[in-house]
Order: sequence, then structure tokens, then C-alpha cells
Amino acid sequence: MPNPSLLILPGDGIGPEVMAEVRRIIDWFGGKRGLVFDVSEDLVGGCAYDAHGTPLHDDTMARAQEVDAVLLGAVGGPKYDDLDFSVKPERGLLRLRKEMDLFSNLRPAQCFDALADFSSLKRDVVAGLDIMIVRELTSGVYFGEPRGIFKEGNERVGINTQRYTESEIARVARSAFELAMKRDRKLCSMEKANVMESGILWRDVVTEVSRDYPEVELSHMYADAGAMQLTRWPKQFDVIVTDNLFGDLLSDLAAMLTGSLGMLPSASLGAPMANGRPKALYEPVHGSAPDIAGQGKANPIACILSFAMALRYSFDQGAEAARLEAAVERVLADGLRTADLMGPEGGTPVSTSGMGDAILGALDASL
Ligand code: NAD
Repeated sequence: MPNPSLLILPGDGIGPEVMAEVRRIIDWFGGKRGLVFDVSEDLVGGCAYDAHGTPLHDDTMARAQEVDAVLLGAVGGPKYDDLDFSVKPERGLLRLRKEMDLFSNLRPAQCFDALADFSSLKRDVVAGLDIMIVRELTSGVYFGEPRGIFKEGNERVGINTQRYTESEIARVARSAFELAMKRDRKLCSMEKANVMESGILWRDVVTEVSRDYPEVELSHMYADAGAMQLTRWPKQFDVIVTDNLFGDLLSDLAAMLTGSLGMLPSASLGAPMANGRPKALYEPVHGSAPDIAGQGKANPIACILSFAMALRYSFDQGAEAARLEAAVERVLADGLRTADLMGPEGGTPVSTSGMGDAILGALDASL
């Protein structure tokens, strides 16, 4: 069996800094756990534009289609703000998502005990929180036709169309059920079946798909009630599946339950490839943070936890993913803090590579 393959695209700003720490962790798993990856690295975003005049070279796109998983840092920065829309750094990322057909976006909201005071909610509501929002990413109201601003009589009318086919709903539902099978086997589907036909269809199709997953306890909730429940008692959920628009809002809401942007990983998954693994792109939620780039201040944890998601969801290495997450938790519990995590209670300040050193130390200690 060949080694699993990983394409690393560090990108711009703090992307290369946080990715350097991930590379050390990948090497650790190769050296200490016999989990060797065939790693290649390439350009995306502004740096790709500087080198090739395009934010994503065709060869990079082709490589992304071949590998088992893509790990991306961040793209963009003020240097590229005036570029034409068609070659802006973000177009590179959007092309990857579109051509890999990544329809299922996974955003965990996980609150490490040591950081519970960073949340705007009370400690006992968020401490130990570990939920996953699955958002449909390639259809719905952001893509439906007709769309546009039209003239109707004397005034303009803005139109967007919420449109979902059965197969679009079924495939994201299936991906959420598969995920629930790897977690606590509880799935809550959110829509607005009370006022939207697309919501009625969503509920029907998710219920149909559930027959293939009898071990998973399925519930349904209106998305507005879901937003309330997420802020009232988020620990009642394990996996939530929802459409593109509601998922956009609910995943941001859930993410902020947990505190800093420097802590949030994500995954975008597509259809299974010939080897059974889904097409996959893993990336931190944060951007390229030009305000702190090149200063050793960036928190590498979001990118490191994105690699942990790759271990779990692309490579079936749930135990090793848990080992990495536990190492992060250990280091935070020991009081180590990059600048973004420095709260009123203080802690030991560390740089980007200092945080990487500490996590590697905690991994060593886990053996
Ligand atoms: P941002 O996420 O880059 O930064 C927002 C704030 O959070 C900044 O103060 C930054 O210093 C801080 N921050 C972010 N990540 C951090 C980390 N790992 N450690 C410590 N602090 C961190 O968002 P922005 O400032 O709105 O955008 C900056 C650039 O990034 C823009 O060009 C934007 O288009 C791009 N962007 C890219 C992505 C992506 O690549 N997926 C996502 C969002 C924004």
C-alpha cells in the first residue's frame, strides 16, 4: 500500500508560519507512530499570483484532485486588494472548493476547559463542549437561479432562490450520518419546514436517509429554534446538519461559543474517491492575519486541529487524532498562551514555534 498523500498549500500571511508547525507534527507522526505521509507542497492565493499570475495554477489544481487530502493555511492580504476579482487570492480557494465539489463543510465547536472563560457564555454552559456543524456548501440560496436585481414597474427587486434537489440533500445528509457514526450517534437536522417548501423536502430526505443509519438518533429542529438552543444549552447537540444559508450563520454562532479565531479548524468533504476516501480540504477558519504576519505571534492551533480532522476523517486514525487533540488540551491546561489567548488570568506567553514545541513535547509525553 502506498503512503497516504497530502498536498500542503500554506498560502499567504500567517499561513506559512502556522503550517510550519503542522509540518513538524506530521513528521512526528511519521517518526514516532509509523504514520508516514507522502507530502507535497505548492502555492495558493497571493503567492501563487506572484509566481504564476494566477491564484491557483492548473498543475496545483490537478494535484489537489489526485491526493488523499489537501491542507491549506490561509490566503489574501492588503498587497492583493486592488487585483482584478478574477485573480484575487480568494479565487484560488474558491476554485479548489468548486472543482473538488466539496459539498459538506464540517465546522467543530469544541471548547477546551482551559479556555472556557474566553466564551461570551457562562463557563458551565461551554466547558467541555464538543459539537459539529455540517453545512451544505455548494447549493441552496447562494447558488439558486433566478437571482439578480431586476426592475419591476417603478422599483428594483432583489431576487435569490432557495433551491435543493433530493440528491443534494441526500449526499450531505449521508455525510452527516457517517460523521455521527464516528461520534456520539446523535444527529439534529435544522431547516424551516414550517415556512419553506425546500425545508419540507429537506426534512423528508434526511428522514429517508436515516433508514440506512438505524444506530443514529435523528431529531429535527427549526433553524431559528436551533439558534436559541445553541446559545441556551449547546451540549445537547452532537452533530447538526443544515443547509448553506442556515449553516453559514449557525456555524459562526457555534464557533464563537468557544472563544478565539486562532483555535477553529474546518474540513470540506466531497464524494468518495476510488479508494473510498472522500475528496477533502482541511483549513483553519481564520484568514491570513496580515496585522501579525511574520512576527511569530500567530496561534498555530487551528491549523494543527485541522490536521487532526484530516487524521480522523480522511485517514481513519481517530485514536491518533485524539492523541493530538489531547496534546493541545494538555498544553493549554499548562497555561501556555499565544498572544490571542492571553486573557485577564494571564499565562505563559509563547510564540508560534513555542506553541509547536510544547505540543510536540506533549505528544512525546503521550507515548
Ligand atoms: P483574519 O482571520 O485574517 O484576522 C482577524 C483577526 O484575528 C486579526 O486581528 C488577526 O490577527 C486575528 N487572527 C486570525 N487568525 C489568528 C491566529 N491564528 N492567531 C492569532 N490571531 C489570529 O481576518 P481578516 O483580517 O478579516 O482578513 C485578513 C485577510 O485574510 C484578508 O485578505 C481576507 O480576505 C483573508 N481571509 C482569508 C480566509 C481564508 O484563507 N480562508 C478567511 C478569511 C479571511
